[in-house]
Amino acid sequence: MTTKKNEKMEAIVSLAKRRGFIYPGSDVYGGLSGTWDYGPLGVTLKRKIMQAWWQHFVEARDDMYGVDAAILMNQKVWQASGHVDTFVDPLCEDTINHRRYRTDHILKDNGVDPDGMTMTQMDEAIAEKGLKSPDGNPLSASRTFNMMFTTHVGATHDEASVSYLRPETAQGIFTNFKNVVDSFYPNLPFGLAQQGKAFRNEISPRDFIFRSREFEQMEIEYFVHPDKWQEAFDELLASTHEFLHDLGLPSEAIHELDVPETDRAHYSKKTIDIEFDFPIGKEELMGIAYRTDFDLGNIQRVSNKSMEYVVKGTNEKFIPHVIEPSFGVERLMMAVLSSSYREDEVNGETRIYLALPEHLAPVRFAVSPLLKNKPELVEKAREVYRALKKKYGNVTWDDNGNIGKRYRRQDEIGTPHSVVIDFQTLEDGTVTVRDRDTTEQRRVSVEELLS
Ligand code: ATP
Repeated sequence: MTTKKNEKMEAIVSLAKRRGFIYPGSDVYGGLSGTWDYGPLGVTLKRKIMQAWWQHFVEARDDMYGVDAAILMNQKVWQASGHVDTFVDPLCEDTINHRRYRTDHILKDNGVDPDGMTMTQMDEAIAEKGLKSPDGNPLSASRTFNMMFTTHVGATHDEASVSYLRPETAQGIFTNFKNVVDSFYPNLPFGLAQQGKAFRNEISPRDFIFRSREFEQMEIEYFVHPDKWQEAFDELLASTHEFLHDLGLPSEAIHELDVPETDRAHYSKKTIDIEFDFPIGKEELMGIAYRTDFDLGNIQRVSNKSMEYVVKGTNEKFIPHVIEPSFGVERLMMAVLSSSYREDEVNGETRIYLALPEHLAPVRFAVSPLLKNKPELVEKAREVYRALKKKYGNVTWDDNGNIGKRYRRQDEIGTPHSVVIDFQTLEDGTVTVRDRDTTEQRRVSVEELLS
């Protein structure tokens, strides 16, 4: 049985690759650190998580609007937002082999909590404790490293053509604030939501998909009257807990961290990070921040366009304040995979299964004939398969190997129901449905499955 934390992580990474959820990026060419590719089952699970989020935070509400902004944006966006100057991590270097590390990670890995420390304080702590690089060599003093990927737009390579792969989706929302207000005249409070890729040149990507260089975010900017921020914050926090519950994440593994002022961005009046007990330890899953009018104020200052909101029927106008819930899809994937990963014993053998909630399972039903050399069984099984597929979509045909092997395979990918067509089906129209979690089998009519 794999019970140790890092062993569990390794087991999940191995299952994810073996069964077609997540592969290392560019694997065939030796990989590209910090990138991951989603296989057929992974892309389905990921989309289901993203769809569940969209349903919960956008479609089920009448105060949210969706947007989908371009990844490449005018460089002024990132100057105004502060990313060009301050989107940095502290970097130190092994003075012998020149490998580079995040200074705060070196401290954390050696049992020192770096939260709230300045870069100088981190260097002092390293010196004081005599900490070395993972290869045992002395470390250099730290410097800052900007995490944005730079590129050039167009055929000329000069200062004016510089652009960045967006390091967050949020700015694509803020830059569309005025557009949406002008098109829809929404009453405050209202939110804009976006899902999409974000890119960060992380110094040391690690822990599977937890810290990637290319990942997916789901963010909301919720615009409020400055006096009303607290109630909006509380409501979005409660709604976040509901969403995490609906993903099947156990509440005892979810923790709120009220981020102390010293660790918050200077413009944030309150930030709550939701941490999750991952196999790698308790780490940030997502965060909710009260960002005041910092972003719209910056846009107004740099663009010279008014970002003020005029309250309908009055002369009252102000720059709205913002509550920002920010989710990372990869971290939700990792939370879902690790909390659903199970090992038990069936007939004296270790069995691995993913106890995914039914609405997230990439495959809902696997259908097979008891014997694949009996044409009448195969024909009936095909009929049942087609009917289930028409109704549910994510239904698979699986007649490889014996029944035991099929069950094991379906357990590992989290298929809740395996349906087997046997000779009794031909007589009374009932099939065997085997439950993934209990392994119990019951006879059910095909009509019942389709109802
Ligand atoms: P961390 O402190 O772990 O680097 P962060 O505080 O920089 O994260 P934010 O800028 O608040 O993260 O980004 C919002 C969310 O985006 C995070 O809560 C996380 O879910 C996700 N995220 C951020 N960086 C990464 C990454 N490198 N890989 C995967 N997801 C990420």
